[in-house]
Amino acid sequence: MDRKTALIVFAHQNPASFNAAVRDAAVQELEAQGFKVVVSDLYAMKFRASATKDDIIGDLKNPDKFQYGEETMLAWKDGRLSEDIRQEQDKVKQADLIIFQFPMYWFSVPAILKGWIDRVLTQGFAFSLQNMYSNGIFRGKKAMLSFTTGSTQSMCSPDGINGDINVVLWPLQNGTLNFCGFQVLAPQIFWGPGHCPPDVRAKLLEGWRARLKGLLEENPLTFPPCEFFDLSFMAGFKLKQEVREEQACQPFGISTGHHLGKPLPPDNQTKAPPTGSKK
Ligand SMILES: Cc1cc2nc3c(=O)[nH]c(=O)nc-3n(C[C@H](O)[C@H](O)[C@H](O)COP(=O)(O)OP(=O)(O)OC[C@H]3O[C@@H](n4cnc5c(N)ncnc54)[C@H](O)[C@@H]3O)c2cc1C
Repeated sequence: MDRKTALIVFAHQNPASFNAAVRDAAVQELEAQGFKVVVSDLYAMKFRASATKDDIIGDLKNPDKFQYGEETMLAWKDGRLSEDIRQEQDKVKQADLIIFQFPMYWFSVPAILKGWIDRVLTQGFAFSLQNMYSNGIFRGKKAMLSFTTGSTQSMCSPDGINGDINVVLWPLQNGTLNFCGFQVLAPQIFWGPGHCPPDVRAKLLEGWRARLKGLLEENPLTFPPCEFFDLSFMAGFKLKQEVREEQACQPFGISTGHHLGKPLPPDNQTKAPPTGSKK
């Protein structure tokens, strides 16, 4: 049987937190669907956040001018990355689906999860200049952010005090997940569970369980494919002229980041296009 594997990368200190309840719901629902579910509980594992020389076993190529990216790429090739990184890379390799479960910290992920991203998604293992974005190494895998906030949804809207959540999500969803080739599923956002009455929190968890039942059938978010760009340093990796011309009559930019000076495409980082719609 082709049993699928899900990896949940979990970043919360408290096993009684709402994030833990969201994680537990995902484990139950996915296991009920026949998934093998693996959880990396980063605080419980005391996962190291900082990217240092200690991540490399053996001699450095250039100890006097240490370059983390280059040294870890070489160490990955030779199987000389530290054991904690290798274990996480094995989990990523085996996963068909990765869910990052965390409370939003400073418009981003908690430092321990940023450390997981910095240390586990090594050059060579997760990306190269030839294998990025729609040509990315993990293009057969799905990944998504599932997170809680302190803010309300209205605070994170284009006219809310925090600004548009689509802009907030762009670095993680495009710069990390899409960059490595993952098909990025729409994020699951639990707005301000700390300010909700218990019955509303229970409904949020119910909604999450319901979504999980059809998660793998969902369309991913859309990002412009590599074919849209001239992929060379000489051409600057810029949008091809013919694509630019095609886009000229569109009312919105291509994506939150590729806005071309036009209004941002609404909900580009929070909603996948419905099946059958033009991407
Ligand atoms: C350093 C830092 C930076 C931050 N930056 C931001 C930011 O940039 N933007 C932002 O919006 N917020 C920010 N926050 C706030 C943070 O995102 C929220 O505090 C967090 O997301 C709340 O999630 P939690 O799991 O910790 O909630 P909890 O406090 O654990 O839970 C909320 C409520 O749910 C209850 N609960 C637990 N389990 C269940 C269950 N099974 N069923 C029902 N209820 C349950 C809990 O008892 C509690 O009453 C920041 C916080 C910190 C510490």
